[in-house]
Amino acid sequence: MARARDPIADLRRIAFLLERANEATYRVRAFRSAAKALAGMPATELTERAGNGTLTELAGVGDVTARCVAESLAGEEPVYLRRLVATEGSDLDAEATALRAALRGDCHTHSDWSDGGSPIEEMALAAVELGHEYLVLTDHSPRLTVARGLTASRLRQQLDHVAKVNAALPEGFRILTGIEVDILADGSLDQDDDLLARLDVVVGSVHSGLKDERSKMTRRMLKAVANPHLDILGHVTGRMVSSRPAGVTGPGDRGHRARTRAESDFDADAVFAACAEHDTAVEINSRPERQDPPKRLIRRALEAGCRFAINTDAHAPGQLDWQRFGCERAALCGVPADRVINTWSAEQLVAWTQNRP
Ligand SMILES: [Zn+2]
Ligand SMILES: [Zn+2]
Repeated sequence: MARARDPIADLRRIAFLLERANEATYRVRAFRSAAKALAGMPATELTERAGNGTLTELAGVGDVTARCVAESLAGEEPVYLRRLVATEGSDLDAEATALRAALRGDCHTHSDWSDGGSPIEEMALAAVELGHEYLVLTDHSPRLTVARGLTASRLRQQLDHVAKVNAALPEGFRILTGIEVDILADGSLDQDDDLLARLDVVVGSVHSGLKDERSKMTRRMLKAVANPHLDILGHVTGRMVSSRPAGVTGPGDRGHRARTRAESDFDADAVFAACAEHDTAVEINSRPERQDPPKRLIRRALEAGCRFAINTDAHAPGQLDWQRFGCERAALCGVPADRVINTWSAEQLVAWTQNRP
């Protein structure tokens, strides 16, 4: 049977697209080297090696490139290539819409208990109107004083309050308890362990020392990701792409208003590998001024096998509708719905957070 695709051409095409996207040289080289290593090989040997898994024995061929070759030989566009092409900016409106429709809740939101602008009840009602089945309330932790982070005692009060609010909300909807806990300089989490254990969902984010040098920031993030209480790694790079999201004015956004800010420097592959190993979800933060992580890192987290949470990080009810932005970016990177934890029901989500390794 004639081969439907040329695997060498596919490897070269991937290298080209990576270069055009200004990716790191070593990443481009992996595909160029594999193409070079395989270019002279007879088609029969190539097919045989792809079949018995011995392509990776060749110098210059790794797991990812071998997988691309196998997919090509099977007549399929390699998944890696498909994602790259998708990220080039073709119209994925339908995919983004489908992903948004699959979301059943939001795992990162703030109320006026910390730096949000509205009471918990208003946030919850807006979520009901959007068709959500749940909203995870994740106000800040004590050390983030600029955002009026909750002490352990205020968080306990909030838990009692949420129980009362839940009793009054429509059936089929509930507020899940949570926190956006600071990842401290040493990688520990800024709240008591017994409280973290009690919460339905724990988002952990870096809010300080964002300019830490690479090895320090990597260690810090790796330690947090390995913490069994941490369910979701929030706004991974800390970048700010614009000083203020369109249409956002007034109070209620203190903790998140900032000037343009570069990404933190850390070993993303190591951090995503740890997220996959510990089954910690990577947040796709929908805030227009964050757009965090950038698309090239979403693709790498996907390759690493991570789960995702598409969150708004809303500080006001209207911002709960920002999930759309995160869905667009996720769809552009080829994130499938079954890798997104907020496509689950509240029961599934809580079962996952309570039973993670
Ligand atoms: Zn944050
Ligand atoms: Zn937040």
